[in-house]
Amino acid sequence: MTSEGSDWDRLPKRAAAAYEKLDDRLSRVRPECEGIDLFTADDLDADDMFVLDQICAVCPLRAPCRKYASEGKPAAGYWAGYYRRSYKPRKRKDSDDAA
Ligand code: SF4
Repeated sequence: MTSEGSDWDRLPKRAAAAYEKLDDRLSRVRPECEGIDLFTADDLDADDMFVLDQICAVCPLRAPCRKYASEGKPAAGYWAGYYRRSYKPRKRKDSDDAA
């Protein structure tokens, strides 16, 4: 994750401050989630989230990660217990075409 010239620059102030702290810690600590695709997967089920919770529970970045998630409300991904599905348009039912 980097913060230069990206959507990170458009975050509200509190979220940007929380992200800055997280980014600073990330520059010194490599989190266990790095490289695990499940952390960025859509449609996690309860078993998946249990597995991710176990990883996050012992992560030294848990506090700044959770703070950023609560302030920045990232649109996707699993962040220290915070999970929000990516938006996917609903498929139209055949019955929607009738009329
Ligand atoms: S707490 Fe955040 S940084 Fe740590 S493993 Fe979980 S998602 Fe990754």
